[in-house]
Amino acid sequence: AAKESGGHGARWFAPEMKASAVDQMMIEGRLRHALESGEFALFYQPIQRAGSADIPVVETLLRWNTAQKETIAPDRFIPVAEKCGLIHDIGRWVLREACRQAGDWFRTRRNPIVVSVNASPLQLADPGFCDDVEHALEAANLPPNHLVIEITERLIVEDDFVTVANIRRLNSMGVRVALDDFGTGYSSLRYLTRFQIYSIKIDKSFIRNIVTDAKARALVQAIIGIGKSLNVSMVAEGVETQEQADILKNLGCAFLQGYLISRPVAPAAI
Ligand code: C2E
Ligand code: MG
Ligand code: MG
Ligand code: MG
Repeated sequence: AAKESGGHGARWFAPEMKASAVDQMMIEGRLRHALESGEFALFYQPIQRAGSADIPVVETLLRWNTAQKETIAPDRFIPVAEKCGLIHDIGRWVLREACRQAGDWFRTRRNPIVVSVNASPLQLADPGFCDDVEHALEAANLPPNHLVIEITERLIVEDDFVTVANIRRLNSMGVRVALDDFGTGYSSLRYLTRFQIYSIKIDKSFIRNIVTDAKARALVQAIIGIGKSLNVSMVAEGVETQEQADILKNLGCAFLQGYLISRPVAPAAI
C-alpha cells in the first residue's frame, strides 16, 4: 500500500489502515526523517476569555509539512507515532519548541501568554516525562506556571502507576494540568478529585449542537456546573458561531476556543 509520490502520498499511513510490518517501518522512517529535517511545526490557537478580547492562553497544535508540500494533521500521524514509539521523541521536540516560544513571548510581550501543550497518554506513562518537561522549562527560562499540559485518558489504564506519579509531579512543579476532550469517555471524572486540575476542556462534539439541541445544552450546563463547584476553569472547544459563544457565556463558561475566535495560526500571527 506504500505510495511515496504524488498528491495522495499521505493516504498510505491513515491510522485506520492495518499496516504490514514493512509499511510500519516505512512510516516510522518518514516520521523520523520529518523530525530530523525540520518538517514539524507548531501552530497556536488562541483561547479567549469569554466576552473580552483577552487571549490568556494559546494551545499548540502540531503540523507536519512534508517535502511534498502537504500539511498533515496530527490525527493522521500521532497514532502512528504512538504505535512505533516515536511519540516520545516527537513529544520532546514539541515540549522544547513550545517552551522556547513561550519563553520568547514571556520576555517580549506586555501581556504574557500561557502555552498549552498536548501530551500523549504514552508520554505521561513514561518515567522520563517530567524530566523532559523540567529540561524544556529550564532551557527556555520559562516559569512553570506559564505551561499547561493537556491530558486525555485515551489508551491508558486509569491506575497506571507512572501516569499518576507524573501528574502529581506536574502538580508539585507548578505546571498546570488541563483535562482535554472532557466528556468523551476518555477523560475521567476521577482525575478531578485525584489531582489539581487547572482547566477542563469541553469536547467540541458537545458544543456543536448547543444552539439547536436543548439536551446538548443541558449537558454542557451540567459540565460547567462540575467545573464551578470544583473551582476549575472551563474552556469550550470548537466554538464556531456567535450563537454558540453567547450561550456558553450565559452558561458561565469562562474561556472559548474555536474557529469563531481564530483558527490555529503560525506563531508570528499571535
Ligand atoms: P485537541 O487537543 O482536542 O485539539 C483541538 C482540535 O480541534 C485541533 O485539531 C484544532 O485545530 C481543532 N479545532 C479548533 N477549533 C475548532 C473549531 O472551531 N471547529 C473544529 N471543527 N475544529 C476545531 P488538530 O490541530 O487537527 O489536532 C487534533 C488532535 O491532535 C488534538 O486534539 C490533539 O489531541 C492531537 N494533537 C495535536 N498536537 C499534538 C501534539 O503536539 N502532541 C500530541 N500528543 N497530540 C497532539
Ligand atoms: Mg488539546
Ligand atoms: Mg481537545
Ligand atoms: Mg479534541
